[in-house]
Amino acid sequence: MLGQLFCSLFAASMAWLGPVRTIYLRRFSEVDDTHIWRFSTSGVYSTKSAYEALFIGATEFGSWERIWKSWAPGKCKFFMWTVAHNRCWIADRLAKRGLNHPPKCPLCDQVVESIDHLLVSCVFTRQFWFCILQQFGLQAVAPRLDEHCFIDWWARASSRFSGQVKEGVDSIIILGSWLVWKHRNYCVFDGGTPSLSRVMTTFREDVQQWSVAGARGVSYLLALPPTS
Ligand SMILES: [Zn+2]
Repeated sequence: MLGQLFCSLFAASMAWLGPVRTIYLRRFSEVDDTHIWRFSTSGVYSTKSAYEALFIGATEFGSWERIWKSWAPGKCKFFMWTVAHNRCWIADRLAKRGLNHPPKCPLCDQVVESIDHLLVSCVFTRQFWFCILQQFGLQAVAPRLDEHCFIDWWARASSRFSGQVKEGVDSIIILGSWLVWKHRNYCVFDGGTPSLSRVMTTFREDVQQWSVAGARGVSYLLALPPTS
């Protein structure tokens, strides 16, 4: 039964395709076909145009340059990459997966913890940013009360500077974020108590080490005259 049905369908399809087989392609030009590379204006392939074609339709990720081109140890850059992609294992992300998490931000004990809260809107962190930026006379770019997105704040703060000051600011924001994250983990996993003076002491030590290790922008900021 199925065999008969298949034969009938095959015969019907061949009958339908019959007229199609009578269509012939006609050559309209005697010029030989050539390859045209559609990703360059000249139509000629180049490695540059091929590389640029890889990014057609891609979403621009504005933070990548600040993260990967700034002077900072690799572990700190990777941490910032996880921040930018909201991949840090922090309370709001742990809660979504039903995992144990601190009920409130370990640094202020006021609101549910998220990476944006921890790094830019927490009252503890805002005070920390103000103190470290003030050392370089840059307190004007410290997070405002209505700041709720860390990456946006970093982009705005960084965009106000250029040259070595910008390099220094980017490195300092990476270092500050890394230290806040470590202090948060110290409070969560080691039972520590939030301490601004403790983080500030670590910052002063680390910023000198980063300068010695080759952070040109940080060295430039450290060499500026002290602000009153
Ligand atoms: Zn907080």
